[in-house]
Amino acid sequence: MKLNEIFDAINYFRSSAPVDVEGLSFALQLKVERQNLSDEICGLIKKRGDSYVIIVNHNHALVHQRFTIAHEIGHFICHRDKIGDGLVDDALYRQTTYNGIINNDINAKDEQQANNFAANLLMPTTLIENIKKEIGSYDPIILAERLKVSPQAIKIRLNNLELA
Ligand SMILES: [Zn+2]
Repeated sequence: MKLNEIFDAINYFRSSAPVDVEGLSFALQLKVERQNLSDEICGLIKKRGDSYVIIVNHNHALVHQRFTIAHEIGHFICHRDKIGDGLVDDALYRQTTYNGIINNDINAKDEQQANNFAANLLMPTTLIENIKKEIGSYDPIILAERLKVSPQAIKIRLNNLELA
């Protein structure tokens, strides 16, 4: 996939709330699967054949799963050359070792980058502003519902955008 095609897909899926992260995954040719993972694991991305598969802990809340998918897409976009055979994220989105998957290339900065990517993808400023116009305030509970993110995630986002 060419870089401009990747950006077009991201922009397309970021244009309506809630952002369809699985639709974007599909467009990027990333398969998403749900599995019973240990509670302290959010998800992972690993190589399968010529492509990658994102595996999400289906015991976690749906909004949490959406953030995990977005975070793994972030790794795919930002650090594909470091994924190697795979990488696993713990509950705080820190790289960890699990089920034989060990990755020594991904560092704390990469994790921060994947989190920023996920926040930008799921909570774009334009969508936040559109909802705000409609409801008259940056109400985190309503924003969280509309964007299908956790109240905690939208609060951090509003703080970072200096809108809280
Ligand atoms: Zn990660």
